[in-house]
Amino acid sequence: MNGIHDYEAVIIGCGIAGAAAAYFLSRRGMKDILILEREAQPGYHATGRSAAVLVEFDLVEPIFRLKVLGGRFLRRPPDGFSENPLLHPCGILMLFQGDLWREVCGMVPGLRRAGVTVEVLGQAETLLRMPVLSSENLDGALFLPEDGHIDVNGLLWGYLRHSRGQGVRLHCGEEVTGIRVAGGRCEGVETTAGYYRTRWVIDAALCTGCGDCVIACRPGGSGTWWGLPLFPSPPAGAPW
Ligand SMILES: Cc1cc2nc3c(=O)[nH]c(=O)nc-3n(C[C@H](O)[C@H](O)[C@H](O)COP(=O)(O)OP(=O)(O)OC[C@H]3O[C@@H](n4cnc5c(N)ncnc54)[C@H](O)[C@@H]3O)c2cc1C
Repeated sequence: MNGIHDYEAVIIGCGIAGAAAAYFLSRRGMKDILILEREAQPGYHATGRSAAVLVEFDLVEPIFRLKVLGGRFLRRPPDGFSENPLLHPCGILMLFQGDLWREVCGMVPGLRRAGVTVEVLGQAETLLRMPVLSSENLDGALFLPEDGHIDVNGLLWGYLRHSRGQGVRLHCGEEVTGIRVAGGRCEGVETTAGYYRTRWVIDAALCTGCGDCVIACRPGGSGTWWGLPLFPSPPAGAPW
């Protein structure tokens, strides 16, 4: 057991979400941060399996806004963040059909107002560019010439390198087994190596991308085990 340590924040999971949380929190002055990753290395799960494309389009407005903000960061990261470009703008072509195509066409002015470069291609124009496609399956397409492939590895290690420079600590091979709550606030986290007292617990372990990352929070036991500031409670019916 490690004994008790005090941290301002403990981040559970070191995929891109945990690494980004550490980076932005430490840049905003929170120095005493510990990231706990159960695997032997960061980025082993959804982050390492991503198709790695930036597509600044989404039917859900808040997600669309986040993608646009993400695109700005990838195109213009802070000086010295990464040795190589984080985005290779090879262009993204999205195909649509029927009612969805009509809805998407109506969204184009909003995309442009948000700063997204977008070309609207009718069916014939799309087929001209991509002759292998079948006309039965599309009415038109959006082409985003400035979007494309993300260097996920560069992004992940950029976040981590700069976080480390700000004093953030990372423990790999250490799994969080529970979160202790007292008086309605988190108090600390239990891990396979010990217990850490902390003011904030940030759950970056619950991505649904690959389905095999969950924190083993459980009711009862010593104190109450509970969810986190970002995800207020465990999913209903979870066997913890
Ligand atoms: C097949 C696929 C393709 C995708 N393509 C794209 C794409 O093209 N573009 C895009 O923007 N996004 C894409 N995504 C989504 C993107 O990859 C994810 O949204 C992102 O990687 C999620 O990051 P994360 O940090 O939340 O999750 P993860 O990378 O899964 O990180 C969670 C981490 O938490 C750790 N963990 C879990 N439980 C514990 C515990 N109890 N204690 C300690 N550590 C724990 C895990 O080991 C893991 O490392 C794709 C995802 C998948 C699966």
